[in-house]
Amino acid sequence: MLMVQKYGGTSLGDLERIRAAARRTAGLVRQGNQVVLVVSAQADTTDELIAQASKVNRRGSAREMDAYLAAGEQMSAGLMAMALGAMGYPAVSLSGWQAGIHTDGVHGNARILEVDTARIRRELDAGKVVVVAGFQGVDPEGDVTTLGRGGSDTTAVALAAWLKADRCQIFTDVDGVYDRDPRLYPDATRFGRIGYGKMLTLVEQGAQVLHDRSVILARDHGIQVEVLSAFTGEPGTILEDLE
Ligand code: ADP
Ligand code: ASP
Ligand code: MG
Repeated sequence: MLMVQKYGGTSLGDLERIRAAARRTAGLVRQGNQVVLVVSAQADTTDELIAQASKVNRRGSAREMDAYLAAGEQMSAGLMAMALGAMGYPAVSLSGWQAGIHTDGVHGNARILEVDTARIRRELDAGKVVVVAGFQGVDPEGDVTTLGRGGSDTTAVALAAWLKADRCQIFTDVDGVYDRDPRLYPDATRFGRIGYGKMLTLVEQGAQVLHDRSVILARDHGIQVEVLSAFTGEPGTILEDLE
């Protein structure tokens, strides 16, 4: 089975969490699966980078902000590939441009236009886990772009779509999608399954559990996406065509 799995920032917050995600991946590889891991910047890294940049230049150019912010995800990708390597599982980290993620030129909020999967395929065929830096791509000028806050979800769904993956899973710090933010409302109820339309409405109301464009891409390409806890690995919420 070809699986695309994405880990969010909190789920990679420290080395033990990175190792836990690597161990889960190793288990899947042992079972004979091919795995593409999409990683976010660790914990609050992106917020910290934005704060740093604003100390240097309050109105820094969007192009340079992208060059700077994309580094957070690249650090996670390199670290994850090294964690897998230390466990005896060959892995290769790829930045967005190396992974063939082509976007438009809207710095800070770029849209994925196409994914050239040749390099990822080659690495998978060579028996490697492919760790892709989320949230970024390359524009027609050859410049690094970022996809907007929360955009690693969109990287994962785009890769699942263009690779025709058998499974797309978003590992996060809650155990699924709820009718309201479960951190603010302890009595919120969890969906076992949710349709694209209803999910989009939740996202428009501010539920940042999935990036809006990831839901639109999943809908347009008919991708089933599971949102689940990185800490328990228990089944989560299935996003699919229910309408
Ligand atoms: P990640 O770093 O894994 O991408 P995010 O912080 O982007 O995680 O999204 C997960 C968070 O979304 C949860 O911690 C939760 O507080 C928040 N959230 C808001 N609305 C919802 C909702 N309706 N269902 C689930 N989580 C929600
Ligand atoms: N690190 C980026 C952000 O904080 C992208 C992501 O986490 O999906 O917005
Ligand atoms: Mg997120």
